[in-house]
Amino acid sequence: MKSVFKILLLLTGIALIVCSCASSHHDPFPDNLNDAQKVQELYMEINEFVKSNKLLSIKEIGQVSYGDFSCPIMVISYRNSADCKTLINAAIHGDEPASAYSVIPLIEILMNHESKCSFDVIPVINPWGFSQNIRFNKEGIDINRDFASFESQESNIVKSFIADNQYSLMIDLHEDPDSKGFYIYQYGRPDTKASEKVVEKVGQMGYPIEQDVQMVILKTENGVIDAPMWGLWYMWLSKQLSLSNFYRLHNSKDVFTIETPTHLPLSDRVIIQTTAVSVLIDEMY
Ligand SMILES: [Zn+2]
Repeated sequence: MKSVFKILLLLTGIALIVCSCASSHHDPFPDNLNDAQKVQELYMEINEFVKSNKLLSIKEIGQVSYGDFSCPIMVISYRNSADCKTLINAAIHGDEPASAYSVIPLIEILMNHESKCSFDVIPVINPWGFSQNIRFNKEGIDINRDFASFESQESNIVKSFIADNQYSLMIDLHEDPDSKGFYIYQYGRPDTKASEKVVEKVGQMGYPIEQDVQMVILKTENGVIDAPMWGLWYMWLSKQLSLSNFYRLHNSKDVFTIETPTHLPLSDRVIIQTTAVSVLIDEMY
């Protein structure tokens, strides 16, 4: 019992250190940054694509509003009778555009996969940030560190949506401006086989694989960050929980996060993201 108390004390101490050095808040952004054109253009393109395929549907799951800026968070859905369902999230960080621009080719891959699993895809979780090419939301909150506190409109919209749905597999799409190569996070998995397959395929295509990214106390091993379950509770304690962390703790055991290096051209990053999801679907279904 005494040792359990010691561990809790240690985790709380580490959590406080993380809180002070990895704040999820920045100052709010000025009101003149309110142009929603970029996200509207992407939504128009996605709408045209959905209209051209009667198996797809699109709906609004919530409205993000900041004064003059108002924009919906959308979800694209495909339903089938197969007993599996995938959720893919993009652009929770507004300055990681390859995730949002991967959505249409990704949907084509998912629809044509032999598993015929149902799926939902959220193309832009952070519409204000995506329009401004900024990581945070308008209030300066890092939405992907807000899944313990739920202070942002965006995290609350996503939380309500996923509470009504159960997914067997969740994939969160990201980009990393500091990394030299591609990498993938997995959470509380018994082995790294599926992630290694993804890294192998991306490497075979000639793209760089990250060897050196460090996230708090975790490190990449040949392109894979293997996060243990205790690490997720530690992120929860430190109020830094990401959407993937949250979903792994409360919903599905099969959760992955994909990261592409932003020094590559956008078209290559879209190819890497779609390839990574395609390999993951092959491995999981
Ligand atoms: Zn990100």
